[in-house]
Amino acid sequence: MSAATAAPTRHPAPNEREGLRCRVRLADGRFFTGPLAPERHRALQLGVLHGQTGGLVEIAAGARRYGRLQITTRRRTDHFLPGGQAREADWLQALLALAARHADAGQEVFLAPAVRSAARGDKHAVIETRFLWVDVDRPDGLPALWTFLAERPCHLLVETGGSGGVHAYWKLERPLPATIVIESTGELVEPIERAHLRLIHHLGTDAHRKPNVADPACAERSRVMRLAGSLNGKTGAHARILEADLALPAYPIGQLVGDLPDPGTYAPPRSSTRMTNADPYKRISPREYFERLAGIVVPRDGLVCCPAARHKDHNPSCSVGADASQGWRCHAGGCGARGAIYDLASVLLGGPWGSELRGDAFRRARAYVIYVFGELLDQPQEPAKE
Ligand SMILES: [Zn+2]
Repeated sequence: MSAATAAPTRHPAPNEREGLRCRVRLADGRFFTGPLAPERHRALQLGVLHGQTGGLVEIAAGARRYGRLQITTRRRTDHFLPGGQAREADWLQALLALAARHADAGQEVFLAPAVRSAARGDKHAVIETRFLWVDVDRPDGLPALWTFLAERPCHLLVETGGSGGVHAYWKLERPLPATIVIESTGELVEPIERAHLRLIHHLGTDAHRKPNVADPACAERSRVMRLAGSLNGKTGAHARILEADLALPAYPIGQLVGDLPDPGTYAPPRSSTRMTNADPYKRISPREYFERLAGIVVPRDGLVCCPAARHKDHNPSCSVGADASQGWRCHAGGCGARGAIYDLASVLLGGPWGSELRGDAFRRARAYVIYVFGELLDQPQEPAKE
């Protein structure tokens, strides 16, 4: 080796010559099993993750120096290209050409699953994601992943070409935003990281409750992940798609991670402290939910016409509290409608309130609330600030 400027010679990786094996369930339910060229693996991963992306897609690349990978592209604006929902017909070709330029130069290539609103690699440029992902980087972690996948199969499974690890990706029914501000409390929530941490901790932790199956660093929404059909410089093997499932429906976020606990919520609540409500919708202020659910702007005196359809209330008889714990209440004799956010949603749908609100009626009310406010993940219970 003489000149540092010489282009590295590309020898085909051991698993590259005869194509990289994969298994794909096509959208019509038929299966393809067999080897595909590395370029096809790249196209499949890009197509699955970003076919519905309206914003920018980040491709990152780098090389190893003294055994350490250095990614060098994350501040280069030309490494952020439109996804499949942009109006450019050749969006996939443009991304593939960018990936190929780095791969052909012997570099390692990565793809960000989340979507950018600006041509930057940092987390503040991420606007949303249509996929959640985990990185299980050691083979001894795989049994825990397979158990989870048996219940909640993923849409894309990539073998990283490293020491036996894989990346799993699950598609969401609706994009998960990078941040949500709960208007009534001003609280900033990062739903992508929160959902990832639930998956990571659910897959396995050690005696100190540190994750030991999936890599917690990959919870970060700005993360770039190895692109299938590209070289892993550590091993000289190519990453490849093990399985892609194009027929599997996307997950509502609640179905994928709704029943998994947030990490760090294990401390038993102190009974002497008033607790805020764990249900994030129940922390929304009555003024806010009257306006958003019923289209009723609450005046300063807090009195509005009763939202119950069967109560023809021409003089405002319903008081609306300032705080979520106060709720709302109709004072007209014989009406009695009252409650909190789900009660209002139910009343607006012609349903019951209070102790009558349960079963299907409750599910309908909750679905309406989620429809209006979007999907908020459950909060850990925290002591209220007095
Ligand atoms: Zn009333």
